[in-house]
Amino acid sequence: SLHGRARFHCLTLMTALCVCVCVCVCVCVCGLQVLLVFAKDDAQSHSFCWACERAGFRCNVARTPEAALESFEEKNHDLIIIDHRHSRYFNAEALCRSIRAISCSHNTVIVAVVKRFVPRSLSLTHIHTHSLTHSHTHTQLEERLKPQTPASVCCLDPLSCVCVCVCVFQEWQGVYYAKKKNGDSVQQNVKMTPVVGQGGKHKDRRKGSLDVRSTTSRGSDAGSSQRRYSSMARIHSMTIEAPITKVINIINAAQESSPMPVAEALDRVLEILRTTELYSPQFGTKEEDPHTNDLVGGLMTDGLRRLSGNEYILATKQLHHIPSHLTTPLSLNDIPPCIAQTMENEDSWDFDIFNLESATMKRPLTYLGLKIFSRFGVCEFLSCPEATLRSWLQIIETNYHSSNSYHNSTHAADVLHATAYFLCKERVKQSLDPIDEVAALIAAAVHDVDHPGRTNSFLCNAGSELAILYNDTAVLESHHAALAFQITTRDDKCNIFKNMERNEYRTLRQAVIDMVLATEMTKHFEHVNKFVNSINKPLATLEENGSILTAPENRILVKRMLIKCADISNPCRPLELCIEWAGRISEEYFAQTDEEKQQGLPVVMPVFDRNTCSIPKSQISFIDYFITDMFDAWDAFADLPNLMQHLDNNFKYWKSLDEKKLRSLRPPPE
Ligand code: AMP
Ligand code: ZN
Repeated sequence: SLHGRARFHCLTLMTALCVCVCVCVCVCVCGLQVLLVFAKDDAQSHSFCWACERAGFRCNVARTPEAALESFEEKNHDLIIIDHRHSRYFNAEALCRSIRAISCSHNTVIVAVVKRFVPRSLSLTHIHTHSLTHSHTHTQLEERLKPQTPASVCCLDPLSCVCVCVCVFQEWQGVYYAKKKNGDSVQQNVKMTPVVGQGGKHKDRRKGSLDVRSTTSRGSDAGSSQRRYSSMARIHSMTIEAPITKVINIINAAQESSPMPVAEALDRVLEILRTTELYSPQFGTKEEDPHTNDLVGGLMTDGLRRLSGNEYILATKQLHHIPSHLTTPLSLNDIPPCIAQTMENEDSWDFDIFNLESATMKRPLTYLGLKIFSRFGVCEFLSCPEATLRSWLQIIETNYHSSNSYHNSTHAADVLHATAYFLCKERVKQSLDPIDEVAALIAAAVHDVDHPGRTNSFLCNAGSELAILYNDTAVLESHHAALAFQITTRDDKCNIFKNMERNEYRTLRQAVIDMVLATEMTKHFEHVNKFVNSINKPLATLEENGSILTAPENRILVKRMLIKCADISNPCRPLELCIEWAGRISEEYFAQTDEEKQQGLPVVMPVFDRNTCSIPKSQISFIDYFITDMFDAWDAFADLPNLMQHLDNNFKYWKSLDEKKLRSLRPPPE
């Protein structure tokens, strides 16, 4: 009996007229509970009642989806037959989904009575699996049928095109007895085939499934449960299928005709698809290296916000204005020679941003920005005077915190430099439009503006104003993007978008926001994996590449990958620069740990304790976990052998220090 109940059986009539379908299950018929959902008390519903009676099934009839759900909740029927001949009474598919949303429904067979056998797009199997895509045609079914004898068969009114309630769990072909409208019995040739349902195995599928009841109070009174069901039914009938739902439905449908091992494999696929974090690897925290653990925990979660009472006050509550000594007009032509000199090789990957940092007295973003933006014709694109761009670069740079050892305007200038470098790569040029290039340069310049030198987790733990404002979600990245547009648009003097046509501005703004938000590390694997799956893999296998590169959805992935790689490209810089960046980020993390200890906040990354930290180990972990795969993918796309060479050298450098058990940035002097 259990075996039979776990399987789903579908039946088709052989007669030419045969129109409708029905169903069902179970060798041991005694005690089977049947729910008939028929809006109208008509001949068909009578016939089903009659059949149930004959078969010894206990039968309930519900006239509305709400009544059906209530009845099912109470009786947990083995078989539900839903009238799907007329959509005007209720939405049978929505009801099916509502029933399936109740966890105890997994061993219940649901079938539809349809007007006629619909060849391709719709069959009774879909109502079992919620799928609209799968069907068995007569021919397909016939091919699969082998004569067998069912344990019992009872049928209903075939002449009025209603059907049958069958009790088989093996394929069967033969004669069954049908009842005509006038009560006489007739014989009918029938072929039946069992269809393996929901993964094709008998298994308690309750685990992990959505249980409507568990989300609502069990002890609620009848009135509220009625409301609950009717609202569930309404929600389901309103649902427009999301792509992931369609995918799940297709797999469900495919399972029905798949052999057991395939169906079981698809079950595991479904379990994965039903989770929300599709792109984030699940880490086994215990045996992981503590550096990786801390980096992953520190960068990839927003931390659990504790109500510690320690409000973290941002260093800049007020927006910075350009200090008067910086407002002196400065044009590309007026750049002092010593600064111009340091920027001569700005188109090379080995360009030394720290030289520029000192030559400009910590204002590298303004100078490098002027040069790079002019190289890419940004002012022409935006129809904005160079003076506006200058003021904009200055105000953006002013809103970076020079007191941060890492997240200051030198990091922004460095990311801008890497972005410009990537934009010159042939593949990137092929896939992006001028507006994408401008968006990428702007995004790079603003992507960490007003960074407080603390991680998202810290801000959430501290209950900072920003964490409250952005609901502990992508706190910093949301702030950088929002603030960048506030700063830009509140004053015409620095509004580089002022002369743009509205739609173009909207497109540009959207692209900038998307890229800044893409720098959030919780989405790291999502962005990288999407890039690999949608771009790297097709490029490697397809001959025609143009459409892959220029498809709008792929251009977004390219832009996200571009800014992400630019943002964390420091391990791919020449060794000396790489070491300097490692020192700066470590110092910023140390300062955070100091403050967490001092304020009694949770220590987000305990390995970044200035007294104990092994910087080489932390860099090895960072490269292993975040950098290698991402740059492999980016290199496969953009062709960056020099970066990969540096990455290799740098990795070996950190390894060699670690092997000597050194914890510092450099080996001690001889
Ligand atoms: P962003 O804050 O936009 O710069 O995002 C990049 C993330 O990667 C930041 O959380 C940095 O702290 C982190 N990061 C960048 N470079 C390194 C590095 N060399 N070692 C460890 N973490 C890094
Ligand atoms: Zn950054």
